[in-house]
Amino acid sequence: MVCTGCALLCDDIRVEENDCRHACRIGDAHITSTAQIEAMVNQSPCDTDAAIKSAAEILMSAEKPVFVGFGNSVTEAQATGIELAEKVGAEIKTFHTGIFDDILDGRVKTCTLPEVRDYADVIVFLGCDPMNTHPRLLSRYAYYPRGEKRQHGWEEDRTAITIDLRFSHTASICKEAYTIDPNRQIEFMDALMDALSNKVPKTTYDKKRILKLAGKLKKAEFGVIFAGTSAPPRDATIRLMDRLNESSDFRLLSLAPGYNLRSIAEQLRQLHNRPGDDRDGSSDGSGNGGGTNLHEADCILCLGFDLMNSLPAHGINGKMIVIDPNDTLTSRYADVVIPCAAGGIDAAGSAVRMDGEPVELPLIRESERLSDGAILKRLLEVVR
Ligand code: SF4
Repeated sequence: MVCTGCALLCDDIRVEENDCRHACRIGDAHITSTAQIEAMVNQSPCDTDAAIKSAAEILMSAEKPVFVGFGNSVTEAQATGIELAEKVGAEIKTFHTGIFDDILDGRVKTCTLPEVRDYADVIVFLGCDPMNTHPRLLSRYAYYPRGEKRQHGWEEDRTAITIDLRFSHTASICKEAYTIDPNRQIEFMDALMDALSNKVPKTTYDKKRILKLAGKLKKAEFGVIFAGTSAPPRDATIRLMDRLNESSDFRLLSLAPGYNLRSIAEQLRQLHNRPGDDRDGSSDGSGNGGGTNLHEADCILCLGFDLMNSLPAHGINGKMIVIDPNDTLTSRYADVVIPCAAGGIDAAGSAVRMDGEPVELPLIRESERLSDGAILKRLLEVVR
């Protein structure tokens, strides 16, 4: 079975009657959860048909609809969501897809997860804490395993470094950790780039440590940067990659939330021959990455995305429709809630792993819940 708890899409999961083998704690909770939310209209319980009807009415009367999320839906549901968005004239906002766009556009070198396992000797966790977001990344690919050219694993063959806004759990097991001020991220990146060019950096950060870090990065035979949601702005990351690749060989991978974010980035790119709407690389969930601001939208459809976890409620003025398997902060405020089956649990389909590998998601168990793809199809049939 495949776990859809994060974008690693671990494919060695064994689900038995009272047991879920090989999954991490996030995956185990994700797979074994049987919590279901109820269909609601105006915070009153109703049946799913009534919620779909109400959502269709809101979509048909909306002048500036925006769809957000898509990272926790199977590829087929994403495609139906794109069709529905086109039919009702909605803009799609996908958060945290900026690095995927850069990778797909060829702005930056990347690699596969098995290549990380086999070849990586220097691994940088930039603005991410995989121990708490992608827990098996370190054991399966990035740090602990023996690989074809890294037979001694983390003890001798690999150096893991964190550069983050706080001293995270991942930092606690890395050989080196750099904690940077959220308001001085660019200063740190500029200082590191100076150090990589053999200049003494002009910075209030510890110059000696930055020079030491640059020395380590320059010696990498096969370096990998995992960029997460609190990484410095995207352009600064790309500039750092360009500078690193003048003297060594570095690849970039995105550690974004959502198990299928790479797929929606690919689909939007193919559709419009342009990246998705997270064009400015904003990773703050502000929704201001281009096009309609979320506070201007008169209807927001959240597809498997807890918008209010990122954006304060006072920034939202439009009607809110939520399609989600889980109870979220957003579903508690939504005008319409439509519960759906979870991709890879009680809805089958396909997905794209964070490194671009296509993965089939078989059903783990049957349920009576409609899949998000089926709900979107029903909406597609009724909206005009
Ligand atoms: S690392 Fe991610 S995909 Fe793998 S078991 Fe944990 S949550 Fe699931």
